Parts: sequence; C-alpha cells; structure tokens
Amino acid sequence: MNILISEVGPRDGLQSITPVMPLEDKKAWISAEAEAGVTEIEVGSFVPAKLLPQLADSAEVVRHARTIPGLTVAALVPNLRGAEAAVEAGAHKITLPLSVSETHSLKNVRRTHAQMLDEARAIVALLRGLPPERRPKFEGGLSTAFGCTIEGHVPPERVVALAEALMDAGCDEVGLADTSGYANPAQVRDLVRRVHAAVGAHALSGLHLHNTRGLGLANVIAGLEVGITTFDSSLGGLGGCPFAPGASGNIVTEDLVFMLEAMGLRTGIDLPKLLRVREVLRAALPGEPLYGFTPGAGLPLGFSQEARP
Ligand code: ZN
Repeated sequence: MNILISEVGPRDGLQSITPVMPLEDKKAWISAEAEAGVTEIEVGSFVPAKLLPQLADSAEVVRHARTIPGLTVAALVPNLRGAEAAVEAGAHKITLPLSVSETHSLKNVRRTHAQMLDEARAIVALLRGLPPERRPKFEGGLSTAFGCTIEGHVPPERVVALAEALMDAGCDEVGLADTSGYANPAQVRDLVRRVHAAVGAHALSGLHLHNTRGLGLANVIAGLEVGITTFDSSLGGLGGCPFAPGASGNIVTEDLVFMLEAMGLRTGIDLPKLLRVREVLRAALPGEPLYGFTPGAGLPLGFSQEARP
C-alpha cells in the first residue's frame, strides 16, 4: 500500500518560528526533499507579508518548486486574493483553512464561517474559469477539527456539517487538521468515519496532525485503520501553529517515514537520504530546535527499504 507524505515544514514549520529562512535555503530544502523522494510539499502561504514575513517570498518558492519534475506543489490560501496569487505562481494544489472553532476563525483570519464559505465559493468560481491545465486542486482544510485552545471541545457534528458545506461550495476534497494537538486515536477513528459517511471516502484522504502531546504517530495509525492515505508532517518537526498557543511541532517526517516503511507500507521516500536533508535545515536555521527520534538513534541494524517482504 502506498502512503502519500505531504511535507509541510516550509509552510507550517517556518511560519511558527521567528527567524526568516533565506529564499535560497528554502529552495535548497525543497529540492533536497524532492530528491529524497518526497512527492508533495506545501511550500508556502499566500498571506499578506506583514502578517507572516517568514513566508513573504511564497510566490518565488512556488515558482522554484514548479521546476522540480514530479513534485506536487501545494500552498495555503486564506482567501480569494491569496488563491489568485497562488494560481498566478502556478501551485498545483491550494488549501483554504476553515477553523471549525468560529472563535479561532475570527482570531486567525477575522472571518465567520459564513464568510469563509463565501470565500470558498469565490475561489471555486475563479478556478472554474481557468483552463484545466492551470487549475489547481482545491482542498478545504478543517482546522481545529479535534479541539480548540480557545473553545475547548469541538463537536464532531460541527466538523461534519462544515465538511459538507465545503464540498457543496465546490471543493475537490476536505482535510482534517489537529491544529491544537488535542486529537487522540479513538477520536481520529470516529471523526474520519463520520466525515467519510457524510461526504464519501474519496472526499477525505488526508490528516494534518501535530505532536503536541506525543500522540502524533498513534493518531497516524488510527487514521490508517480507517482508510486515510495522506499524512502531513514536517522535517525535524519544525514549527506548529502561531495562532494556537501551546501548539508546537508537526509530526516528524523522518519518524513517520520510518514507522510506515518499517510496517511494510510504501512512501517512495529514501530514508537515509531524507535524514541527510536535516543538515540543510540545521545550516539554514542555526540554534532552532529540530525534533525526532529516528535521526538521533539511527536506523535499526539490518533495516532496508529494499529487502522488506
Ligand atoms: Zn499545523
């Protein structure tokens, strides 16, 4: 079975740390990960530069990533204007984050659910006006789907209703994001099942998980059990969500790839090569903490991605 790892470090990781990574280092990072076999990377976010100076060069990063053969170039867009910029730069996939917690949505993008759904419909209209070869895939990303640092419990019924509303608005698919790192495996299984039942399994294939409370990989296993085939992660576990206080670190790409490959699943990623990409990060962000267990411990004796049954 093939699992798609979507690397989100250049977006989710970089937006949550203070230092601004120079453009050339971002390009080197993305190229090195693609070279290791990563086939989808979320390379930036089309938000105003004054809000996130770390991602101000997203258009240039997208244009560079587009030159890498076989790489799906993804970007986050907070609104129609961001979507226009992402399309202009040539992104293959765009994600509009919609926070299931309306309080979080108001704080994060200063918009209600109704306003975000209007934004989704406006983006769909933009995309439908494009020739098919320039039309990116459009995902509605349901953030704070497993709980919110401001509202606490997020009712699963509300997640399901917004997933349906996003699909009705014309999204190609929806994703569930554990922005706050509140998710547990039982909850992952339950929520994925509910959303699948409402919009169809084809409309939800990906999870965006954080490792805030150490349950990231356990939640991946739960997702696998209910048919999820795409997982977001970041190299070195860099970053988190600046709008969700206390959240730190996506799940670590290196540990995720090790777990999946050791289980006999295929990611297409060359693990020794991936581990060497950390050096690019270390050199570009001196002093910034990098996480993960596999990089420190090394691969188990005899571990081979070729020789697996
Ligand atoms: Zn995140």
